[in-house]
Amino acid sequence: MTVILEAKNISKIYDEGKIKTTVLSGLDLTIHQGERLAIVGSSGSGKSTLLHLLGGLDTPTTGEVWINGVCVNRLNETERGKLRNEQLGFIYQFHHLLAEFDATENVAMPLLMRSHFSIKEAYDRANDLLDKVGLSHRTHHRPSELSGGERQRVAIARALVTQPALVLADEPTGNLDDDNAKAVFDLLSDLQNTLGMALIMVTHDRELASRADRVLEMKSGHWV
Ligand code: ADP
Ligand code: MG
Repeated sequence: MTVILEAKNISKIYDEGKIKTTVLSGLDLTIHQGERLAIVGSSGSGKSTLLHLLGGLDTPTTGEVWINGVCVNRLNETERGKLRNEQLGFIYQFHHLLAEFDATENVAMPLLMRSHFSIKEAYDRANDLLDKVGLSHRTHHRPSELSGGERQRVAIARALVTQPALVLADEPTGNLDDDNAKAVFDLLSDLQNTLGMALIMVTHDRELASRADRVLEMKSGHWV
C-alpha cells in the first residue's frame, strides 16, 4: 500500500529561556493512501501541535515529516506552501472562511491560488463540490448567512476541492451540536471514501472516532 505520510521521531519543545515545554516526544506515524485515522486525547495533550507539524505549518524540534516521498522539513516556506496547496486539505473547529466572499468563492480559493486555473474552471469545480456537500442552494451565501453546520460543510468542500492526498481535520465537528456533528462527520467520511484521500481527524468524540479505520490516543505528547 502506498504510504502518504510518514512522521519519524517527532518532538516539539517550546523553548522560552528558562522554561522548556516538551509538547511532543518521539512520535512515529505512518498513514497509507485512503486510510482514516482518528486521534483522541485530552485537551492539552498535543494533538493540534502534531497536526500543525504534519501539515507543514510549523517545524518539529526533532524528527522528520515525509509527505508523498518529500521531506517537508527540508523545504523552504514557498515550497511548503505549494506542497500544502497541492497535497493537503485542512479543516478546523472554526471554519476560517473569508467573511467577504460567498460559498463558491471561498471553496474556489485554493484553486485560484494555482496559476493554471481559470476563474470559470475554479468556480465550476467549487460548485460541483458544494453540490456534493448538499449546498447547491447556498452558493451565493456568505459565511454570516449560513448555519454552523453549513459553514463546516463549506469548509469541507474547500478542503477537498483540490483533491488532496491527505486531509487534516482538527476537531471539525467540535463546534456543532450532536446531530450536526454526526451529519458533518458522515458527509466527510462519504466524500473521503468516494474521493479516496487519507484522513487524519482529531476528535473528542469517541463514538465518531470508533468509526475510523484506526484510533490512536495521545497523552502528554506520547501515543498511549
Ligand atoms: P490539544 O490540541 O491536544 O488540546 P495542543 O497541541 O493545542 O493540545 O497543546 C499542547 C500543549 O502545548 C499545551 O500544554 C499548550 O499549552 C502547549 N503549547 C502550545 N503552543 C505553545 C507555545 N507556542 N508555547 C508554549 N507552549 C505551547
Ligand atoms: Mg487542539
